[in-house]
Amino acid sequence: MANVYFKKINSNTSTKEIQEITKNLLKKIIKDEKITLEKSIPLKVHFGEKGNTTFIKPNNYEGIIDFLKSNNIESKFMETLVVYGGERNRKESHIAVAKEHGFIQLPIEIADGDHGEKYSEIKIDKKHFRTCKIGSEFNNYNQFIVLSHFKGHTLAGFGGAIKQLSMGFAAKGGKLAMHMGIKPKVIKNKCIKCGLCKKSCNENAITINNKSAIINYEKCVGCGGCVAVCPKKAITVITLKGIINMLFKGNEFKEKLVEYAYAAQLNKKNIYINFLMNITKSCDCVGKPMKSIIPDIGILISSDPVSIDKACYDLVEKNGKKFKGFEQFNYAEKIGLGSTNYNLIRL
Ligand code: SF4
Ligand code: SF4
Repeated sequence: MANVYFKKINSNTSTKEIQEITKNLLKKIIKDEKITLEKSIPLKVHFGEKGNTTFIKPNNYEGIIDFLKSNNIESKFMETLVVYGGERNRKESHIAVAKEHGFIQLPIEIADGDHGEKYSEIKIDKKHFRTCKIGSEFNNYNQFIVLSHFKGHTLAGFGGAIKQLSMGFAAKGGKLAMHMGIKPKVIKNKCIKCGLCKKSCNENAITINNKSAIINYEKCVGCGGCVAVCPKKAITVITLKGIINMLFKGNEFKEKLVEYAYAAQLNKKNIYINFLMNITKSCDCVGKPMKSIIPDIGILISSDPVSIDKACYDLVEKNGKKFKGFEQFNYAEKIGLGSTNYNLIRL
C-alpha cells in the first residue's frame, strides 16, 4: 500500500499558496519515504492546447522549481507531440504554444523529436503490446516529477498520472498505436450541423453535408476531439465495434493506455503530483474554454501512479461527481503498475 499525501485547497487558494503547498508536499515525501534525488529531474507537464484555459498554469509549479534549484538539481519541462494536426504536432510550434501559455521558467524539451520520429522501443511483453514507443529523450533520465491535472477524459474516463505517463510519454507512433481501432460515429438524427466538430478536427476529417457531419475514416486518427466538443452528444465512440470490444475484448483502449504507462515508468524513480483543481469534464487537449464541474479539491503527491489516481478518483466522488474509467485501475493493478490501496495522509 502506497502513501498519498494530500493538502486541501479551495477555489480561493492563491497561486503563491499553491507554490508553497507543492514545495512542502515534495519535501514531505522525500523525507518520509527517504527518496534519493537524481542530479537532473525533468518535470513532465502538459502545456495545454491552444485555446484551452483550464490546464495547470506553470506559475503553480514555481515552488517545485525553487526547491529543485535550491538543491542544485537541473530541470526542464518535458512533453511529447500530439498525433492530430495543429500547433502541438510539431516541435517548434509546440514550444511556441508552451511559451504563450507561460512555460518560461525552465528550458523546454520535446522528447520525441521534431515531428515524432525519435522514440525508444521499451519491451514490456503484455497483452496488447510487446514493446511501447516512448519518446527517446526520456531515456536520458532516471527520475521525473510527473505533474498531472486530474480531470475527465472522453475516451479514458479520467486523466491523471496514469494517462500522463502513457499518452504523455508516448511518441507519436505510440499514441497512434493506442488509439487504433477507436473511430467515432455520428448519430445523424442528433446532429444539428453546427460545425463545431469540423472546426475542432485537426485532421480535416469532418465535412458537413445537408443532413449531418460526416467523418472520413481514412483521415480520422481517433483522437476523440470531436466527441468532446459536440453540444448535442451526436458523436459517440460507442460503436458496434466498440461494444464488441467491450464485451469480448475488454476495455481495449484503457488497457493499452495502462500498458504504455507501465512502459514509461519502468526502472524510473518517479514522484507524482496531481492537481485536483480546474476539474473539467474533458482534458487539456480541448482547445476551448471549459467550466469546472466541481470546486477545487487539493494537491496530492505519491510515488505510486495508481494510488495517487485512485485517491483523486475517490475524492472527486466524495465531492459529488463520479468519473468513468475505473477499468484503468483494475488493469493497472493486474499488470503491476501500482496499487489501488492507498494510505491518504492529510496535511
Ligand atoms: S458538433 Fe455535433 S451537432 Fe455540431 S455538426 Fe458536429 S456532430 Fe453535428
Ligand atoms: S476523432 Fe474526431 S476530431 Fe479526432 S481525428 Fe477523428 S474525426 Fe477528427
